[in-house]
Amino acid sequence: MKYLLSIIISCYNEEKNIFLIYEEIDKISKKLKDLKIDIEIIFVDDGSIDKSLDLIKKLALEDERVHYISFSRNFGKEATILAGLKYAKGDYVTMMDADLQDPPEMLLKMFDVILNEDYDIVGLQALNHKDYGIIRRFFTFCFYKIIGHLSSVPMTPNERDYRLMKKKVVEALLTLTEYNRYSKGLFNFVGFKTKWLKYELPKRKNGKTKWSIKKLFSYGINAIVGFTTKPLVLASLVGFIFCFIAFLAIIFIIIKTLIWKDPVSGWPSLACIIVFCSGIQLFFLGVIGEYISKIYLETKQRPIYIINETDEDEENYL
Ligand code: UDP
Ligand code: MG
Repeated sequence: MKYLLSIIISCYNEEKNIFLIYEEIDKISKKLKDLKIDIEIIFVDDGSIDKSLDLIKKLALEDERVHYISFSRNFGKEATILAGLKYAKGDYVTMMDADLQDPPEMLLKMFDVILNEDYDIVGLQALNHKDYGIIRRFFTFCFYKIIGHLSSVPMTPNERDYRLMKKKVVEALLTLTEYNRYSKGLFNFVGFKTKWLKYELPKRKNGKTKWSIKKLFSYGINAIVGFTTKPLVLASLVGFIFCFIAFLAIIFIIIKTLIWKDPVSGWPSLACIIVFCSGIQLFFLGVIGEYISKIYLETKQRPIYIINETDEDEENYL
């Protein structure tokens, strides 16, 4: 029996990498054929403004295994993953970055697990983040620690989006239609038996990262807001602790006034306490605001992406 593997590739201004990744996949496809696995390659162009789309279309003309979806503007990587999953027809599906940081040859190891062991998903965990600067590495480290502790769904440190999944996993993922998407969390949310493989994250082949610190920060906030409501519980807890401290302070001040008759001294410390408490209140107002803004975006029910061009029947994929 023959199987089909759908390979989803997210591309945003990756003109220097398109042919390279295609060639790498083509090499692997010969080895996959021995395992009776055919491939389809789905390039999802996230509104690139360089020649990426032209190059993808050229490949699609030359090789019938290549397909493409092109967005009307940049909607972000999470949207490309969703579009690719909707489009994928394979019995197995994988998604990878176009910059070769998710090496196609890992697919052979992943298939070795999924075909011979009883797993539905094979995920990859990066052993290092050498390609990224110290600030990003620090924030990434903090992010995985925070999300790991707060999330009600188990999260794996340094997990990549790159993973191999059976069709039933994809079907489950497609039932999650939320607007604010954190794909790694969604993959973990649907569950299924997962095996993690570790690998050295190679450097980006060409071009620069598309993630600014600002973009990464909002990605992190999105993930936390999407997968835990614990910050809201923390607001109540901090409020309770402060009320308790205030209560003790009031008792202390009453006793002090009655014994030493010194009711007015200590205003500088009072000013500090007021500023501190206002800061805490504003901080948690901001936390609540984050949740409300996400509810606002969800209720609008805007499409997660808009397709400008594709070589498939568009109606099915909007
Ligand atoms: N990407 C995308 N849309 C975006 C940003 C990135 O489709 O808005 C793609 C990008 O082309 C690449 C992958 O997502 O294939 C990962 O992006 P990048 O390498 O910049 O991220 P990093 O490796 O720095 O986390
Ligand atoms: Mg990259």
